[in-house]
Amino acid sequence: MNDTASLDLFSPSYATARRKFLDAAAARGLPVDSRVLDLPGAEGETLAMDVVLDGPADASRMLVVLSGVHGVEGFCGSAIQTGVLRLGQPAHADTAVLHVHAINPYGFSHLRRVTQENVDLNRNFVDFGKPLPLNAGYVEIHDSLLPPAWPPSSEAEATLAAYRDKHGERGLQRAIGLGQHAHADGMFFGGRAPTWSNRTFRAVLRQYATRAREIASIDIHTGLGPYGVGERIFASFDNGVLPRAQQWWGELTDVHAGSSTSIPMTGPIQTALFEECPQAVHIGICLEYGTHPNERVMPALRAEHWMHRHGADDGVQALNIKQALKDAFYPDAEDWKQAIWHQGRQACLQAIDGLQLGRQSQG
Ligand SMILES: [Zn+2]
Repeated sequence: MNDTASLDLFSPSYATARRKFLDAAAARGLPVDSRVLDLPGAEGETLAMDVVLDGPADASRMLVVLSGVHGVEGFCGSAIQTGVLRLGQPAHADTAVLHVHAINPYGFSHLRRVTQENVDLNRNFVDFGKPLPLNAGYVEIHDSLLPPAWPPSSEAEATLAAYRDKHGERGLQRAIGLGQHAHADGMFFGGRAPTWSNRTFRAVLRQYATRAREIASIDIHTGLGPYGVGERIFASFDNGVLPRAQQWWGELTDVHAGSSTSIPMTGPIQTALFEECPQAVHIGICLEYGTHPNERVMPALRAEHWMHRHGADDGVQALNIKQALKDAFYPDAEDWKQAIWHQGRQACLQAIDGLQLGRQSQG
């Protein structure tokens, strides 16, 4: 794929991104299973989690590619999925790729990181039958993160600075981002029940992924780390598969070892792979692409959550806040897009090849 073709994978809106993905599936003659969400998109378009299985339904090896878990981050993952579909069918027998496009279609279309329930989907896969995890740090800073007025007052910023002085930059990042269930109008809210996206993704896995013996997964995100660099974050719960994951993808970071720009979180979406596909070995990563420095990304995210909580002062402010959020998670620049596609394609092909290695050792 040349540079022009790779740039064409990217889209300015959810509606266009979805059309390109559906067109790529149609060009390959692959059926699309659309799980429609009964809410209008930002342009009045249909919202759906679209599922395409590329390969045999009974394949024992499966790569699951996820886009748009964090809505607005879907511009990146959608482009990679469309590009992988355009590459053609997987080169190995008994191997399938399951594309789950726009897992959080509402956030993708409406330029939110969270779902229609204001839920961070990657904090929503907890056991709601048990007491929900507590995040005392978040409780302390909630009203300073999302104060009554925007831009925030110096008092609000001073409270956050004091928290940073006491707990360190990492401690502040953890308090904000770990996940919390106490403030439904807050940031990184994990919800109080499984969201539509959670329930629908689980149903997709039950339908398509319960026959595979080995499942690789690549969950595509943006917003952390150096511009255009795809950090490969180990995302299996089974540390025993780490050597194999490293063999496939090279050096990996680990949120629990502190080697990642990301942090541990409650209720990540990979939980569903373990719970719904217990028959399979799961080897997964999050592919986390850097966009802009955290000093730009976090204020954009705060502002958008502030607007959700308190309402914008006027239409101009609302538009500016939405555009800043989109820019923070999706740099509209050719060098960034080419770097994204190059690394995304490579990670997917490495996983497809890697899945064949286990086959040999099993004879
Ligand atoms: Zn993300």
